[in-house]
Amino acid sequence: MSGERFEREFSEMMALIERHGSVLVTGHIDPDGDCIGSMFAIALMLEAMGKKVMCYAPGEISELFLKLPGASMLAGRDDASEFKHDLVITVDSPNTERTEHFARPCEDEDVINIDHHPTNEMFGCVNVVDSDAAATTVLVYRFFRSAAPGMITTDIADCLYLGILMDTGGFRFQNVDSEALLIASELIGLGARAYEIAHEYIYVKKYSTLKLLGLVLDSLRLHFDGRAATMEVTAGMLEKTGTTLKDSEGFVDYGAALDDVELVALFRETAPGEIRVSLRSRNHHDVSALAERFGGGGHVRAAGLTLETDLASARETIVRGFGKMLG
Ligand code: AMP
Ligand code: MN
Ligand code: MN
Repeated sequence: MSGERFEREFSEMMALIERHGSVLVTGHIDPDGDCIGSMFAIALMLEAMGKKVMCYAPGEISELFLKLPGASMLAGRDDASEFKHDLVITVDSPNTERTEHFARPCEDEDVINIDHHPTNEMFGCVNVVDSDAAATTVLVYRFFRSAAPGMITTDIADCLYLGILMDTGGFRFQNVDSEALLIASELIGLGARAYEIAHEYIYVKKYSTLKLLGLVLDSLRLHFDGRAATMEVTAGMLEKTGTTLKDSEGFVDYGAALDDVELVALFRETAPGEIRVSLRSRNHHDVSALAERFGGGGHVRAAGLTLETDLASARETIVRGFGKMLG
């Protein structure tokens, strides 16, 4: 357990927070549970400290997150752009581009950068960056324990638990470690509603989402003797099932359920001529390196990128990349 790490950063972070009155808390485009949980946990603490707080992450936000404590501080793009703030706290974002520049580097403004991506560009005045952490909420928890003990309410515990649960795929992925489980246990001790959160954010699906999953599974193709798998979500599938892109969150993991599969790609048509690609690796193959070649990024075993092309040529590009990786 690396509880002593970042002591200096945590006290600098608290000193910066104490010096400022209004704070914008921001995260990456199309925020996931780790990003949202980190944002809301920090925002709830700032609110309790009497600060003016606004949360903003660009892109699409699942309506499920709007039920979380802290969601009342979530702003739309216009309000976030106009919000007069003197400090920015960025979570789960390796660079300022991922926040669509709602965060700017330390040369331009006071910014605290909290993240667990190995490609983090250390753009903050304070950087709490550890790629060994299973989730960004693990780092936020370390901050609380070090600099704000006693401030973890039941609501904050829920948000932090959500981040760990979702970034570990429900405690299944390779990033599960003793610290993640220990913190999860401590959060339950502090009141986190483990069952309700797992039920709501992992297990329960809408009828239309399961119908979409059926179509996506039907699109599954194997490559290189079953060592790689690809799947797709087309605009037509969304229309047919009455779903949106957000409803396909987590579908990429079904490709990794096949025993011999080492590499998986899910292609999603985000706009005509624009394909968002999610990549997963089951072993040592580094999919973030492949994503970075096309302007994306992520972690060794989970990465993403966007290609300005059609589905067929996106698949061809990625399958060719997979072929080189598999040798
Ligand atoms: P996803 O497949 O969208 O769940 O993303 C998997 C991982 O890759 C997450 O850690 C994301 O933060 C990261 N990621 C996804 N898309 C991008 C991108 N365009 N640029 C950088 N990182 C990305
Ligand atoms: Mn994330
Ligand atoms: Mn994360």
